[in-house]
Amino acid sequence: MPLLRSLRTLAARPTHQDWPGLIEAYRRWLPVSNQTPVISLREGATPLIPAPTIAERVGRGVKVYLKYDGLNPTGSFKDRGMTMAISKAKEAGSEAVICASTGNTSAAAAAYARRGGMRAFVLIPDGYVAQGKLAQALLYGAEMIAIQGNFDRALAIVQEVANQYPITLVNSVNPYRLQGQKTAAFEVIDALGEAPDWLCIPVGNAGNITAYWMGFNEYRQAGRSRTLPRMMGFQAAGSAPLVMGHTIEHPDTIATAIRIGNPVNRDNALKVEAESHGGFMAVTDAEILEAYKLLGSGEGVFCEPASAASVAGLLKRRDEVPAGATVVCVLTGNGLKDPSTAIEHNEARFHTGLDADTAAVAKVMGF
Ligand SMILES: *Cc1c(COP(=O)(O)O)cnc(C)c1O
Repeated sequence: MPLLRSLRTLAARPTHQDWPGLIEAYRRWLPVSNQTPVISLREGATPLIPAPTIAERVGRGVKVYLKYDGLNPTGSFKDRGMTMAISKAKEAGSEAVICASTGNTSAAAAAYARRGGMRAFVLIPDGYVAQGKLAQALLYGAEMIAIQGNFDRALAIVQEVANQYPITLVNSVNPYRLQGQKTAAFEVIDALGEAPDWLCIPVGNAGNITAYWMGFNEYRQAGRSRTLPRMMGFQAAGSAPLVMGHTIEHPDTIATAIRIGNPVNRDNALKVEAESHGGFMAVTDAEILEAYKLLGSGEGVFCEPASAASVAGLLKRRDEVPAGATVVCVLTGNGLKDPSTAIEHNEARFHTGLDADTAAVAKVMGF
């Protein structure tokens, strides 16, 4: 869009409708043309929320922000990649897409595929998908296939299916996914005016950490930031192939979104670690849950357990953060995705079975 026209349309619109979705907002940075049908739910433009309670725990004047990507249309950052992957699949004339998923990819794939008039097939590990995510894929009209095997096995199967039949694979091996996801790094720099010193991020298949690094580099090359962050990736201890240096046969963690033993983007991830002078580290489920609860009750931010790994990791490495540094923790998914974990793991006082009586209520309140 010519600059003047875009300024005029922006000025004419009420402010709450300014955002056109990430493909339109970052069109010149993305592999799209006038021929690309843009399939969008106005994803992106998620808030960068200051986190004073966590910053206080880190200490020494460190500033902490949460990139709350759980506020995307289907509740996770997967929407950033999916708007690109589905738009490009549509452009190529595809009528169906397939993915393996721990849940969020299937929700995003289903929503965007249906929006684009395509069929969506989803392979999930039976019994290891959080309830909210399952509900979403079903409601969006995905065709679900649950297998007796973990994510890594499901991915191998969908890759074979996509090789043999006319169907587009939309897992993060699809290069357009990472192109869309890199826009989160653009938004962070657009918000801060500069790259942060550290980026803390949960790592499963390592697509997102790869995409962020791509975004930070592209913006720096274009002069939008003078610096690059150190990329700090966190895996769940029972599912930490990049920390252990080998595939994990039976990954296990409460953080189901990163329950991945054989990361697709392993080589990219190791490159990001080396180039950014970053590091991978494991956090235990107990540390993840601690951060998860602190985010809720200390910051008022509800994320899913996998997302809290970024904050658990920051707290674990707090002594290494330079004084006064700026840290961004990526919160990849919305807490409502996984209500059972919240109901099981919280420190709330929940008084039940009371008489419907004012005095009884006042009494448990401590009056
Ligand atoms: C997909 C996902 C991750 C992991 O991202 P990768 O790109 O696979 O490393 C982390 N958190 C949530 C909520 C996710 O949905």
